[in-house]
Amino acid sequence: MPTLKISGGTSKLHEARWWEAEPNGKVHCYLCPRHCHIGEGQAGFCFIRANEGGKLYSLGYAHPAALQIDPIEKKPLNHFLPGTRVFSMGTAGCNMGCFFCQNWDISKSRADQVHSSFVPPEDVVMLAIRNGCPSIAFTYNEPTIWGEYVIDICHAAKEHGIKTVMVSNGYVTREAFHDIYDHIDAANIDLKAFTETFYGRTTLTHLQPVLDTLQWLKNETNVWFEITNLIIPTLNDAPAETRALAEWIFTHLGPDVPLHFTAFHPDFKLRDKPRTAPETLHAARATALEVGLHYVYEGNIYSDGAHTSCPLCKALLIRRSWHDVEENRLADGCCPKCGLAIPGRWANSSADISARSSRKAETVTAGRYGELNF
Ligand code: SF4
Repeated sequence: MPTLKISGGTSKLHEARWWEAEPNGKVHCYLCPRHCHIGEGQAGFCFIRANEGGKLYSLGYAHPAALQIDPIEKKPLNHFLPGTRVFSMGTAGCNMGCFFCQNWDISKSRADQVHSSFVPPEDVVMLAIRNGCPSIAFTYNEPTIWGEYVIDICHAAKEHGIKTVMVSNGYVTREAFHDIYDHIDAANIDLKAFTETFYGRTTLTHLQPVLDTLQWLKNETNVWFEITNLIIPTLNDAPAETRALAEWIFTHLGPDVPLHFTAFHPDFKLRDKPRTAPETLHAARATALEVGLHYVYEGNIYSDGAHTSCPLCKALLIRRSWHDVEENRLADGCCPKCGLAIPGRWANSSADISARSSRKAETVTAGRYGELNF
């Protein structure tokens, strides 16, 4: 059995799903639209799916490189258990090549280049419960590429009434989509731009598979999902592009899918662009509202664009400051003024979770994982 070097020793590898053997000793991974054909002893583009002896193994399985507690609004999700903590985790690797990646220290690393320990699915759920989190987020790097681990965590989470969240770039194949998302409660999908040029040059992928994923989510699942568009000066901030993106969402997904416009800061290989001006986000939000979207937010800046208002009577429903919920006036998921039902997942079904305890981002400290220093 092949092993992986981790902090303090080695760990057995977990055989992957979504692959087939090829006659020449290579394996074909069809988990994401890259369709890597991986030679013996090599890994796919994402670094964490490797061919050992003609079999594909998931190097990320049970090997998180980051464990942290975040506010759910940081994912960002504004219509899913607002004001609660989410147990957040990621591994090494990524299937996109975004020049502006803000988690590049893990997403551009191989599994043996990050600090990780063996954390099996049941222990992830235990840590979430122990830290007062009603949900677990697969985030920081692209969780699709460790889909086997995601699914097993979801199985364990359901037994304890814990919800699960994908924070994803949406780059997944039809063959794997339902295998993963049929277990998921909520998602935030990055729609990084609305041009093939941006996707090709700046993320090294393609736009259409992401649009396909969004439509599958809408038409074929019960997953609550929101969309994030990180606006980068000169690369994807053209008003016409923003309008086209909002119109596509309105037409194909409907007006009630929340859209978050978030501000870029220079990072990784994209340090020659300035931070996104607040005025750019304000203009993008105004355009999307004009197109007809009901819930449009601004992120990574302090702004009134973080609040939720009723699209019918305009009453303020949830007042936020950055990722903090300062006031929630929703009454059983409805506007208290006009009674309109506001789409989202508002109730926390897990009664034994103390969701209102401190929601600042924290390092995980619990039980035998107390010594971990992620
Ligand atoms: S998940 Fe990784 S190995 Fe599989 S096709 Fe995508 S990039 Fe390649």
